[in-house]
Amino acid sequence: MNVGVLALQGAFIEHEKTLRALGAHAVEVRLPEHLDGLDALIIPGGESTTIGKLAVTFRLLEPLRAFAATKPVWGTCAGMIMLAKDIGRDQPLIGVMDITVNRNAFGRQLDSFETDLDVPQLGPDPFHAVFIRAPVVTAVQNGAEVLARLEDGAIVAVRQGRWLATAFHPELTPDDRFHRYFLRDVAGLAD
Ligand code: GLN
Repeated sequence: MNVGVLALQGAFIEHEKTLRALGAHAVEVRLPEHLDGLDALIIPGGESTTIGKLAVTFRLLEPLRAFAATKPVWGTCAGMIMLAKDIGRDQPLIGVMDITVNRNAFGRQLDSFETDLDVPQLGPDPFHAVFIRAPVVTAVQNGAEVLARLEDGAIVAVRQGRWLATAFHPELTPDDRFHRYFLRDVAGLAD
């Protein structure tokens, strides 16, 4: 299976390492032609304004939208922001998921934190999640399914059909269950 990782800015190398450990062929995507032949794509964390600007510069935004229209895509943190249709401000987005996202939702006081999440789709063990200047999902529509919430109810993981969005960084911890979930359950690529 060929899985692309958008490699314009941010934590793409960590995703590649996890994908390779799971037996996938990880491909760095920087130009439209790099999307050819991919089975799925990951949009990493980083800075969504920078990723969006670079995507415009490299004429990738429309090809990314076209890819997402037919193929599985997972966005982590800034990648979640890139996938959302509504973030309440104007910046370049892929904009396919029916979710409303609030950027930097935790403010300066709580820039980064780690917590254990209950994610029934991954099994009974909690998922240790790393949040870095993270967004949260404030609304879901059109059948987007909430996969995980913080204790206060804030939505931090959503699936809508072949699209997955997580506010945290599963590529920064050794637990590969979210990558497995994306490849097997969301993308239908592994057994
Ligand atoms: N705060 C960043 C943004 O708005 C996202 C942070 C991250 O990806 N770790 O794009």
